[in-house]
Amino acid sequence: MAEKRDYYEVLGVEKTATAEEIKKAYRKKAIQYHPDKNPGDKAAEEKFKEAAEAYEVLSDPQKRARYDQYGFAGMGGAGGFSSGGMSMEDIFTHFGDIFQGAGFDIGDIGDLFGGGGRSRGTRVRRGSDMRVKVHLTLEEIASGCEKKIKVRKLVQCKDCNGSGSADGRTETCPTCKGSGRVIRQQRGIFGMMQVQSECETCGGDGTIIKNKCPKCGGQGVVRDEEIITINIPAGVMGGMQLTVPGKGNAAPKGGVNGDLLVLIEEEEHKDFIRQESNLVYNLMLDMPTAVLGGQVQIPTLTGDVKITITPGTQPGKVLRMRGKGLPRIDQYGRNYGVGDLLINVGVYIPEKLSKDERALIEKLQDSPNIAPNSANKKSFFQNLFGM
Ligand SMILES: [Zn+2]
Ligand SMILES: [Zn+2]
Repeated sequence: MAEKRDYYEVLGVEKTATAEEIKKAYRKKAIQYHPDKNPGDKAAEEKFKEAAEAYEVLSDPQKRARYDQYGFAGMGGAGGFSSGGMSMEDIFTHFGDIFQGAGFDIGDIGDLFGGGGRSRGTRVRRGSDMRVKVHLTLEEIASGCEKKIKVRKLVQCKDCNGSGSADGRTETCPTCKGSGRVIRQQRGIFGMMQVQSECETCGGDGTIIKNKCPKCGGQGVVRDEEIITINIPAGVMGGMQLTVPGKGNAAPKGGVNGDLLVLIEEEEHKDFIRQESNLVYNLMLDMPTAVLGGQVQIPTLTGDVKITITPGTQPGKVLRMRGKGLPRIDQYGRNYGVGDLLINVGVYIPEKLSKDERALIEKLQDSPNIAPNSANKKSFFQNLFGM
C-alpha cells in the first residue's frame, strides 16, 4: 500500500482551517475527481476516495482532534477497523449532500462501481449497514471480550424464504421488460447526460410479484430482534469502529446482508487514566513513607501489587511498571506488545496539624538535612523537568 498522505495536505488546507474551509476544499476535490467526470480513471477514483477519507476525519471534531494528536495511528485505519479505505457507497451515503447543485445524480453513480448497495437489476442487492455502540471497561479492553448485543433489524422472512412471493412465483416487469432499468435524459453541469435509473414499477428487480407473501408484504424481509455476539480484540480504543461483516440489515428480496458497524466507547476507570497503551495511576504518599521508604499497595488491571518506595522519593517522580498497561494493536487489530503502568508519585503535605505534630515539624525545621540547598535543588528539578 502506498504511503498515506497527510489529510490536510490531501484537501490542501492549513492545519488551522475552519470547518467551512474544510468543507469547501473537499467539495472542490470531490467535484474535480468525481467519477462522472473521470470515467474509468482509476487514479481519479483513488484521489476521490482519498479526499473523502480526509474529509470524513477532518469534518468530525472528535476524529480531527484525535488525528491532530496521534496521526493515522489514532484513526484505526483499514482492515478490521473501518475508518480507513471508504467504499464509494460509503462516500455517497455520508457525503452525498456535498454534490447538491453540482449536477450529479447521486443515486446513479453508485452503479458505476458495481457491488455497492445502490446496485440494481442484474446486480446483487445489499442490505444497509447498522451502527451500534458498545461500552467497554479498561478490564475488558485489556483482555479482549465477547459482547452479546440485542439489535432490532431487518431479517429474511421465513414464510417466503426472502423471495417476497407467497407461491414462490415472479413475473417479468412490464415496464422495463426485465432489465430493472429505464434510460432518461438529464441536464447536468457537463451538458446533457443519458442516465440509467431504476425502474419504478419493479424497484429495479426486473420482476414483479403478483401474489405477495402476507407476512412481509412482498418485501422478503421483516423486522425482528437478533442477539449478535461481537468479539472485541484486546487493546481497542474509544472511537475505533469494528466491522462485523454480514450482521447488518438483510436485503429485500434476497441479496446479501449489510454489515454491523460497532463503535467502541470507553468507560472511565476509577483508578486509571488511559494514555494510548499506557495506564497512568496517581499515587499519593504520606510524608514519612516518602522520606523513609517502604512498601505501598497499588492497583493494576490484574489485581493489587506491592511496590517498594525508596527512601527520599521526591514528589513528581514517575515509576514505570513495564507490561502492566494495555495491549498495543496496529490498524489491522494485530497485537504488538503491551504498554506500561506509569505511577505518578505525589507526597501529601498535611494541611492541619495537632499541637504535638506541629511541635515535631518545628523541631525538624532546624535539623541540618531538612533544608533544601543548591545541590539537592538542582538534582530535584533535573530529575523532574530535565532542567
Ligand atoms: Zn415473506
Ligand atoms: Zn421494471
